[in-house]
Amino acid sequence: MYRNSNIILTFIGLLLAASQISVMPEAKCVNAVSGEPNEISTSCLTDNRVSNVRSRIVRMEVTAYCPCSRCCGKWADGVTASGHKIQRGDKFVAADIKFPFGTMMIVPGYAEGKKVKVLDRGGAITGNKIDVFFSDHKIALVWGRKDIDVEIFE
Ligand SMILES: [Zn+2]
Repeated sequence: MYRNSNIILTFIGLLLAASQISVMPEAKCVNAVSGEPNEISTSCLTDNRVSNVRSRIVRMEVTAYCPCSRCCGKWADGVTASGHKIQRGDKFVAADIKFPFGTMMIVPGYAEGKKVKVLDRGGAITGNKIDVFFSDHKIALVWGRKDIDVEIFE
């Protein structure tokens, strides 16, 4: 009798050990499809390297602009610094030269959370400041200035 209960206790102990393993927190990863800004862990970076999609989250000061002369001054010629010809409804960002043209970013609240490219520069757009592009000056004004976590794909 004593012997049997000892076996049961050992079995329960094994069960507990097993359940503790499964309860261990999973490494959160950036979802490249939905672009949901989850926190990045070391294992996540490893995972992303395998699929060749690496991203990081950077808190940025995000302002907005349009192609008008009030926003762009003498540069209001309808062509971005990268040579992109602006079309109505375009979604892209202006960023510091440390982000090469074509760098993909997800700016929450902009372009329905889809990836947009860095296609422009701006005199005041340095460091961790970016400018999101809107076709319409009034809409750019509504955006104002936001400090948000931007996902950057490199
Ligand atoms: Zn404007």
